[in-house]
Amino acid sequence: MRVTQLLIPTTKETPNDATLASHIFLIRAGYIQGVGSGLYNYLPLGKRVLDKVQNIVKEELNRANCQEVSLGFVTPASYWQESGRFDKYGKELLRFKDRKNNDFVLGPTHEEMMVNLVKQSVKSYKALPLNLYQVNLKFRDEIRPRFGLMRGREFLMKDGYSFHASKEDMQREFAYMEETYKKIFTRLGLDFRVVEADSGAIGGSGSKEFMVLAESGEDTIVVCEECEYAANIEAAIRAEKICEVEPPEAVYAKFYTPNTTTIDALSKFFHVDPFYLIKTVAKKALFDEGESKIVLFALRGSEELQEVKACNSVGANELVDISEEELAEVGLVAGYMSPTIVPEGIEIVFDTMLQDATNLICGANEVDYHLVGIDLKGYEANYQDIVAVQEGDTCVHCANKLRYTKGIEVGHIFQLGTQYSTPLGANFLNEHGKTQAFEMGTYGIGVSRILAAIIEQHHDDKGCIWTKETAPFALSIIISNIKDQAQVELANKIYQVLKEKGVEVLLDDRKERFGFKMKDFELIGIPLGLVIGKNLKDGLVEIVQRDGLSKETISVEDIIPKIMSQVW
Ligand code: ATP
Ligand code: MG
Repeated sequence: MRVTQLLIPTTKETPNDATLASHIFLIRAGYIQGVGSGLYNYLPLGKRVLDKVQNIVKEELNRANCQEVSLGFVTPASYWQESGRFDKYGKELLRFKDRKNNDFVLGPTHEEMMVNLVKQSVKSYKALPLNLYQVNLKFRDEIRPRFGLMRGREFLMKDGYSFHASKEDMQREFAYMEETYKKIFTRLGLDFRVVEADSGAIGGSGSKEFMVLAESGEDTIVVCEECEYAANIEAAIRAEKICEVEPPEAVYAKFYTPNTTTIDALSKFFHVDPFYLIKTVAKKALFDEGESKIVLFALRGSEELQEVKACNSVGANELVDISEEELAEVGLVAGYMSPTIVPEGIEIVFDTMLQDATNLICGANEVDYHLVGIDLKGYEANYQDIVAVQEGDTCVHCANKLRYTKGIEVGHIFQLGTQYSTPLGANFLNEHGKTQAFEMGTYGIGVSRILAAIIEQHHDDKGCIWTKETAPFALSIIISNIKDQAQVELANKIYQVLKEKGVEVLLDDRKERFGFKMKDFELIGIPLGLVIGKNLKDGLVEIVQRDGLSKETISVEDIIPKIMSQVW
């Protein structure tokens, strides 16, 4: 393709709302164009990359026996009402009506649709297993669309769903999809980790996320410095934590502790390590159909509440903060709450670290008072893991240290079981002639987000650096001086030869200064550049590697073999 014929509106202007490299460079290099909040057009270069990513995804999935389908984007609300998600999903779900007043949604994900497709077409175990996928638009009315393609409202997702006659077979496919996803992200040239994710009620390894490691990632991942263990902070576990400092031995008593409403103040007041203090956190838990209740969470003062774990521990949809006034209304004293003196009817969850713990100090649920000598040995309560793993904690698998890193979620696989097939009445006849609900798995890849993730991981201060498999073109030929007939002739000749050999080549034949064209080359991020400049009179040209910008002078006769050896 000749640059003079291609729409590449590169610009020096950084968009106002852009902070991430991927957002800035994808717009400045003319890959995408903002349309509205979280909405983008793909320009020719962006579409080429999007197709490349998509093709890799499809190739690997097809090889793994998955079948491509394409489902409607506009979805009758009845499907969502049947599964119960029409009311549950929240404001991300865009609901609308047609002229006849029928309700619809724009699909943010397609479990309901796919279950219905299979329900109508599969009646017997003989047709199983089945793995169907699509690469299609999704719409989520995100509360904070930002970072360009990273968190759009309209975005391209590959979503796949598998159907099985048994849980074992679903788990086999889940493991197979994990391997398939690893192949996909490796081919894309990404440095990624597979992490244990929060799987809500399913628990265990029922859910895994594929995280591209990048400083700008929105997700915190816990990784082991030695072994392969990696988990999303919401699902991370660690070896039992102990405290080297001696415990404060005391008999049970109530103490006057004026103005000590924080763990820090309390630790100073008693000269006690926060490990021996109990932090009691109050939250309002929100449930279906507008139900809510106040829940207390008790943990060691040295720990932090992990909200997703805490939320799952009470089966809520969400936890929200609660004001001191609301606490007072139900008899809770902010800053001095106690896990043992709790007003009637208020649920409390204890962190597992507190099970059988002794020599503790906690609030007395009375202003300015704390209790010392608390002994929870044999104390019956609802104990669950509700704390966040911290940096420096110990790995359960190898006893080495855990640390935090940041990641971008580009894929997610999930063991669904019969969560959707049962409410949607999606059944088949099993080999004993009995009716049974499909066992299901679901597998997503953020296709458009991958463009942003690649650039987050592969850029410098000048622009994009595409990986070999995802670059819009393999090579850019840059004519240094368009008025130099010899340069133009050679460039055109090389361009033709490479095109015939099937190389995706771009020819920068614009009547622009050399410096200007090089700046665009750096911004656009094509992996290889061939600069045909004034040294041509000595039979020499230059090859530039975009990654690192190293240059090599070669003779004209070597151009084709040199390029052919580098582009594949
Ligand atoms: P996130 O936690 O980032 O909001 P999610 O867990 O809600 O994502 P899934 O439902 O697992 O997303 O969707 C599958 C994949 O789709 C994600 O792994 C992610 O790569 C991509 N994705 C999700 N939301 C967006 C978005 N708003 N913009 C672009 N890609 C997205
Ligand atoms: Mg996810």
